[in-house]
Amino acid sequence: MAGRDPVSFLRQEYEVLVSGDLDWKLRVLQGPSTPRCVVDGRHVIMLCSNNYLSLSNHPKVKQAAVEAVKTHGAGSGSVRSIAGNMDLHSELEKRLAGFKGAEASLVYQTGFAANAGLIPQLVDQGDLIVSDELNHGSIIDGVRLSRADRAVYKHCDTEDLGEVLAKAEGHQPAYRRVLVITDGVFSMDGDMAPLDKVAAHARAHGAMVYVDDAHGEGVLGEGGRGIVAHHHLSRSDVHVEMGTFSKAFGVVGGHVSGSRDLVNFAYNKSRTWLLSGSHPPAVVAACTAAIDVLETEPQHVRNLWANTDYFRKGVRSLGFDTGRSVTPIIPVMIGDSGAAKRFSSRLYELGVFALPIVFPMVAKDKARIRTIMNAALTRQDLDDALSAFEKAGKEQGLL
Ligand SMILES: *Cc1c(COP(=O)(O)O)cnc(C)c1O
Repeated sequence: MAGRDPVSFLRQEYEVLVSGDLDWKLRVLQGPSTPRCVVDGRHVIMLCSNNYLSLSNHPKVKQAAVEAVKTHGAGSGSVRSIAGNMDLHSELEKRLAGFKGAEASLVYQTGFAANAGLIPQLVDQGDLIVSDELNHGSIIDGVRLSRADRAVYKHCDTEDLGEVLAKAEGHQPAYRRVLVITDGVFSMDGDMAPLDKVAAHARAHGAMVYVDDAHGEGVLGEGGRGIVAHHHLSRSDVHVEMGTFSKAFGVVGGHVSGSRDLVNFAYNKSRTWLLSGSHPPAVVAACTAAIDVLETEPQHVRNLWANTDYFRKGVRSLGFDTGRSVTPIIPVMIGDSGAAKRFSSRLYELGVFALPIVFPMVAKDKARIRTIMNAALTRQDLDDALSAFEKAGKEQGLL
């Protein structure tokens, strides 16, 4: 309609978010992501980064990035499929496959790009995707890009998964392919998928298994090799092991590991891979160096778990509920959204940076402070953080 401002919705919708306190207020990290850091001008203990092993600050990882700029430049010049496939990219994929014990690996620009690019290629019309109800948003978007039928099973409920798969067997016309997809570690609760049982059900029904191990890599399994290693599963149990370099590896980039057939299929078909510029040399070299560190310095994963056990025990003994957490993701359950936000603000004043997770990311009455452990936190850091939780909890009537 003439005269009407076609973009007035931009401000209107933003203002709705602001008035509902549902907008993201961006904090500024002034300097590196370290256990003691500066956020918006305040010195705080960082309890919500995904940099589990502090590899983003490891001297070998930083040095590798610097060297790669000197030898290969600041950018790759193209997409991988045309002129942007450098020796560094191939080297990283070889090293990742070795680390994962897989035949082959493929690196995507991000984990999100891996899920959004690959899932809709694995299944199409006439196929079925069976997804855990709490799977990550990037899986949900990947699923939405596919024309396959969708079914959801109750969170980590393999009995329900079995029923969904059994029902799918009777579908007419018969499904061509069935894909079962799950997070390895669930990022809001810190619980783990029963991947061994998921794989057994899938095998019984001839379905593919796809695990998104973004929060399991660098954390679970021998030397941080992830949830597939944790369960000692084979490549015939889990067909697609997807992950990211943006969490425990401390850099950025998505990846999938599995058979050579999977990788050949994935890079020829994923539009996010084919049509988007490849990682700059510094990123690729830093990722390779992070794998080096994981393979040669087992203390980081050990320290992560020691800190996880210490902190979880600590917050529990204060009287807080940590829900289903069995990993370094430790939610401190608060309940009401407003209370969780007030608690987080008070923690920040007391020198602890830990953000609230509220509706719509979790149910309305399940708001929480999500803490994420880090290998480089010292006992003193953890004790100081626990004191802040105790003080804020008592002040606000939560303890
Ligand atoms: C973080 C995350 C992703 C996205 O990975 P990026 O590399 O950061 O895009 C995908 N899946 C899960 C489960 C995640 O936690």
